[in-house]
Amino acid sequence: MYTTLLFDLDDTLLDFKAAEKQALSSLFRELRLPLTQTIQQRYATLNTGLWQEYELGKITRETLLKTRFTLLFKQLDQKIDGVACEKRYRSYLSKGHALVPHASEICGILKQDFHLEVATNGIAKMQLQRLADSGLDNYFERVFVSEEAGFQKPQLEFFNYIAQELPYFEKERTLIIGDSLTSDIAGGNRFGIDTCWFNPNLVTNQTSTTPTFQIRQLPDLIKLLGQQK
Ligand SMILES: [Mg+2]
Repeated sequence: MYTTLLFDLDDTLLDFKAAEKQALSSLFRELRLPLTQTIQQRYATLNTGLWQEYELGKITRETLLKTRFTLLFKQLDQKIDGVACEKRYRSYLSKGHALVPHASEICGILKQDFHLEVATNGIAKMQLQRLADSGLDNYFERVFVSEEAGFQKPQLEFFNYIAQELPYFEKERTLIIGDSLTSDIAGGNRFGIDTCWFNPNLVTNQTSTTPTFQIRQLPDLIKLLGQQK
């Protein structure tokens, strides 16, 4: 039976899409610019493209952050400082902490029987702030953020780091739960621990990565873990 649960944060416990949407509308309100559907779509396309280039190692994270709003405002023919706006956007983003349905209740129940840890990619300050604001921070013994580890999911080094840091860590008694096949599930598989894919929209798995388990909503975890006892 499992003793340690590693939870992904974004779109597993915290609703990151809602946070992005809120941050973008706060920024545009501050700039006194209308935020249309078209602009939202353009930003999403630009941002996704840059993240893909970053994941392929074509650009640095620094470039990604410095470019995304500069390009957007260029496309919109607005003479606005994109780098400064990106900083404002990120400060709004760090305030976004809407919960995925049942996150708090499920963490509270699981905490009674398991060691709960967060294993998230991202900027440490921002992730810790969002976790604290969400009220979920008390459920977790440790919070592992890629920036502090120096490695990110799905890199093996990120998982080795977690294993070294936890005195009670045992591979065969650890389960990772996350929404991303390419970072959470692929990373867990690479490291050799069981994986649980949180797939609320029941999307089809088009990757070669196979999770050990799949759940549609967080309460399914209680049943799944009960069966493992
Ligand atoms: Mg995620």
